[in-house]
Amino acid sequence: MLRFVSKSAQNGLRRSVRYASTLTLNSSPLSYPTNHVEPGTEPYLTPSFHNGQLVKSESKTWFDIHDPATNQVISKVPQSTAQELEDAVASAEKAFHSWKQYSIIKRQGIAFKFVELLKKNHDRIAAMIVLEQGKTFADARGDVLRGLQVAEAACNAPNDLMASSLEVATDMETKMVREPLGVVGSICPFNFPAMVPLWSLPLIFVTGNTCVLKPSERVPGAAMIIAELAAEAGVPPGVLNIVHGKHDTVNKILEDPRIKAITFVGGDKAGKYIHEKGTSLGKRVQANLGAKNHLIVLPDADKNHFINAVNGAAFGAAGQRCMAISVLVTVGEKTKKWVEEVAADAAQLKVGSGFDSSSDLGPLINPESLTKASEIIADSEKAGATVLLDGRNFKAADAKFAKGNFLGPTILTNVKPGMRAYDEEIFAPVLAVVNVDTFDEAIELVNSNRYGNGVALFTQSGAAAQKFTKNIACGQVGVNVPIPVPLPMFSFTGNKGSFLGDLNFYGKAGVTFLTQPKTITSYWKTSNVEEVLKPSTAMPIQH
Ligand code: NAD
Repeated sequence: MLRFVSKSAQNGLRRSVRYASTLTLNSSPLSYPTNHVEPGTEPYLTPSFHNGQLVKSESKTWFDIHDPATNQVISKVPQSTAQELEDAVASAEKAFHSWKQYSIIKRQGIAFKFVELLKKNHDRIAAMIVLEQGKTFADARGDVLRGLQVAEAACNAPNDLMASSLEVATDMETKMVREPLGVVGSICPFNFPAMVPLWSLPLIFVTGNTCVLKPSERVPGAAMIIAELAAEAGVPPGVLNIVHGKHDTVNKILEDPRIKAITFVGGDKAGKYIHEKGTSLGKRVQANLGAKNHLIVLPDADKNHFINAVNGAAFGAAGQRCMAISVLVTVGEKTKKWVEEVAADAAQLKVGSGFDSSSDLGPLINPESLTKASEIIADSEKAGATVLLDGRNFKAADAKFAKGNFLGPTILTNVKPGMRAYDEEIFAPVLAVVNVDTFDEAIELVNSNRYGNGVALFTQSGAAAQKFTKNIACGQVGVNVPIPVPLPMFSFTGNKGSFLGDLNFYGKAGVTFLTQPKTITSYWKTSNVEEVLKPSTAMPIQH
């Protein structure tokens, strides 16, 4: 059972009350949620994190955080005040000047320790994700793992930041180093509360930058634990600051000239605004946006592998993954018939609490998402789609979950471009099935879609796979792999409408995004050596 241990500032500390170190998080390595909060429990007030301290906000505006499985308010998050936002940016700016002087080997040592602490707190972070975001515990562990892997890769910083040099003329050498940018603003979505902050934080640290991070106001818990662990690992005060809120916080990050770059992951509307405004104010911006990921199945595919893969990729995490498969493209009549079997298996998936180890998928994040998905299903049905499997009106067996935002796996067939189920990102466990006659038509369908995050082909033909990988216009391509998210030795390479910017998250592109090159050209004449080294008894004179 979760114990909320919010302690307000007390007992005559000489520090200001807002910087009271007596604040604690609502979890610890030994005590974290294993079940939903009992009704009537007082909501926890989420602190911010500035200059190495948990900070109690003085804000008058607080947003409720609901458990998506019960819709009970479990905690609150502040709209950080203008002064608090200013304090966070000032603390990041101040810390930058000393942090960038740390030797790379010292920063690497801290990164190793950070990785160790993330591993020790793996279940604790996952549990907080289940409570606030609703996904299953196993899936939440995956959320943490994919972030942890970026932190592990960041430990390679000495190699990633190795300078290059060349003797460009006799006795003249040019060396190119990569230097940090300064303060980086990081704005995160609700669906991966640990992975997305960790897509950028470890690289921000090791490259010598500092950070002001805004978690989603719906799921701040994981980011708060990550901040605590970073401090414990030796990340100095001010290098990581966590602020909260909505537009006012985003606008501060966009407008403050001390913030040099922004990493954003989220929906199209916010992403376009942040990219446009950020770049117009001279900042570097990398922005990962929405998606509509297709899985094409050819008649020669391994049917069982395909059915398991499509169900996992469409309905896992209740479809709230930017790489979820939301469109199945069946090629020809044979694969069209397989959809009945997909639906039969999908109907067996268990919808329920993320804390229940038998659940396959949890709830949607909020009632608005549930309403939106239900409306899209109804509108598409009116436009000619067939509801083969209907997850609406899901009834939880346990009355505790009667008000949860649950939607069961839903499959729509006879879907065509122009219908909302095809055109819009639903971000729910809804699979739209489009049937085409030929492989070429399937490729054309994907290529004309405005998004380019992920795509998969299921086939046993090497020739078809070769044609597909060469001709498909999409950033992350899977062959018999439904969710082809690259590990962090590569980068997250969504393209078209799924990405704005030039340099992707993590991997080499991530390091390049977070650093700027400096070339140093030096000329030391070797012919002067004898003269320089010759002993002299004369009074030295400056030249
Ligand atoms: P969102 O855009 O609503 O919110 C993302 C962040 O932006 C939050 O911190 C939020 O406070 C802020 N924000 C929201 N609206 C804003 C606005 N109008 N102006 C300024 N800031 C605003 O996204 P979400 O609902 O939290 O996350 C789901 C979306 O994120 C989906 O579209 C999903 O595809 C996308 N996503 C993409 C990737 C990827 O790598 N491409 C990964 C994860 C999620």
